[in-house]
Amino acid sequence: MEGRVAVITGAGSGIGKAAALLLAREGAKVVAISRTEEEINQTIEEVRKAGGEGIAIPADVSKEADMKRVYAEVEKQYGRLDVLFANAGINGVWAPLDEIELDEWQKTIDINLTGTFLTVKHALPMLKKQGKGSIIITASVNGTRIFTNTGSTAYSSTKAAQVAFAQMMALELAKHKIRVNVICPGAIETKIEESTDRRNIETIKEPAEFPEGTIPLTDGEPGKSEQVADLVLFLASDRASHITGTPIWIDGAESLLLG
Ligand code: NAD
Repeated sequence: MEGRVAVITGAGSGIGKAAALLLAREGAKVVAISRTEEEINQTIEEVRKAGGEGIAIPADVSKEADMKRVYAEVEKQYGRLDVLFANAGINGVWAPLDEIELDEWQKTIDINLTGTFLTVKHALPMLKKQGKGSIIITASVNGTRIFTNTGSTAYSSTKAAQVAFAQMMALELAKHKIRVNVICPGAIETKIEESTDRRNIETIKEPAEFPEGTIPLTDGEPGKSEQVADLVLFLASDRASHITGTPIWIDGAESLLLG
């Protein structure tokens, strides 16, 4: 990653923060994005303490003006962009469909899907100028292999759409040597629960008997953000030079058991 510049959204916590720390350790200059300034300042402080380099730019991925400002600052600071990790996301409201209000639905779509669109769209001028690049998008097992988290309809819809988006982009951007891949994590220990509002989902669950244990590879233990960051590093690097348009599940076989 030496000499490369990586923009990471949702870099103040969980998967995004672990990726920021790892890419910086591997030599990338990291640009940490989140709508919460305090948490990305903390990420960059940790990057610098470990001898790395980076900047924090507070921005809401669902706001176009914010994302335009992000890339204008990246251009000014570093003059290049090599790696884009479009990772920011929320769980949002999980509820029966007739109880989900339009503004609740819209918020999940705005952050997870429109946020991905804006994050990638406004990066394109710099990536194309570079003539090479790697975009990695965080989707989920939900909406791609798992459909039993009844109530997570808005969330799962955005995650399914991100996989389609990544594959559309992989083809469109191949002539510019920009690779686009999508990672689909299972349960990972992060702060995502704080962005989750579950309401009455027990009323819509099908009474199915689920297999014992939820994550076969780890006897039920969730994955760690650092394990996901290793995958992000691989996809960002030239070691993944022939991989594009590919969803990769990282879930200890959770989705094979529950999907
Ligand atoms: P997290 O809550 O720990 O981190 C999310 C980050 O995104 C935070 O830095 C938060 O401030 C930021 N963010 C939220 N809304 C934003 C916005 N509008 N603009 C800018 N930044 C915003 O969660 P995480 O688990 O690390 O989630 C990262 C991604 O991984 C999400 O896309 C999530 O859907 C996905 N994911 C997580 C899991 C899991 O089990 N943790 C599983 C599958 C997929």
